[in-house]
Amino acid sequence: MNEVELSSRSAGAARKASYPPQATRDDIVPAMLKAAANARITTHPLRRNLSVLEGSGGNIAVLTGPQGKLLVDAGFGVSRPAVSNALASLSADPIRHLINTHWHIDHTDGNAWLHSTGAAIIAHENTRKHLSAATRVEGWRYTFPAVPAGALPVTTFAAGHEMRWNDTRILLTYYGPSHTDSDISVHFTEADVLLVGDTWWNGVYPFIDYSTGGSIDGAIRAAEANVEAVTGDTIVVPGHGPVGGRSGLIEFRDMLVAIRENVAVLKGEGRSLEDTIAAKPTAAFDAKWGQFLITPAMFTALVYAGV
Ligand SMILES: [Zn+2]
Ligand SMILES: [Zn+2]
Repeated sequence: MNEVELSSRSAGAARKASYPPQATRDDIVPAMLKAAANARITTHPLRRNLSVLEGSGGNIAVLTGPQGKLLVDAGFGVSRPAVSNALASLSADPIRHLINTHWHIDHTDGNAWLHSTGAAIIAHENTRKHLSAATRVEGWRYTFPAVPAGALPVTTFAAGHEMRWNDTRILLTYYGPSHTDSDISVHFTEADVLLVGDTWWNGVYPFIDYSTGGSIDGAIRAAEANVEAVTGDTIVVPGHGPVGGRSGLIEFRDMLVAIRENVAVLKGEGRSLEDTIAAKPTAAFDAKWGQFLITPAMFTALVYAGV
């Protein structure tokens, strides 16, 4: 199945079409780039003056208003024409700010073009650190070069950062090491919309980047923090997958905890990674969570590395 067939299917299927399903570990990054080049961008209004754009790598959130647009995450640079069109369809406001939820390419590759149109970039200090130097992600078998100077965040912080834009209070909060060591949440408090970046993949197994400080236990801590941070009214935007809320965060946390336990038992019995994968510790979850980029075997390996 190719991306063209995928993108002609329903909106629900198209959300999952931003990557070809079931890529092997060695071709994840080229596959992400190729899919982004062909991606259709869909726009969903959230609440107040907030919308989300899906289709170019990670989800992109947009706050519109008279001071200009503020974006959270940048998608892939190859999606510039499609993302530009989607942004123009929301309003004529210029782009003034860009927040990165973490350093990964599917959330920061668009930094350069967005900066060139006037966006000041804000992120956790470790996002700037990883984008500033060649960085290897062993889980993707890929080394990312340093980005150009204009693509780097200019405002960075350690624990948290607060800003006000378009009459909206925006709280940026560091998770501690989780999916990487650079993940933050972004809360638009009046609208009660929370962006959690790649600490939540809604409906699919997540990637965990051990090369830059991520781990299964850190991912579980972030999943717990997300459940604690929201109410039943909060709109929650994941890094990947459709927008959801508290019940989805709980289901994701419970999945992580259950699989971590299963894998820890098998590893504790002295089983090799190969034997652990063969024992299918994710079996109860695969029908729902195992149909996308990170396969059951890949996710088992990611958990095994951290228990
Ligand atoms: Zn991502
Ligand atoms: Zn990521």
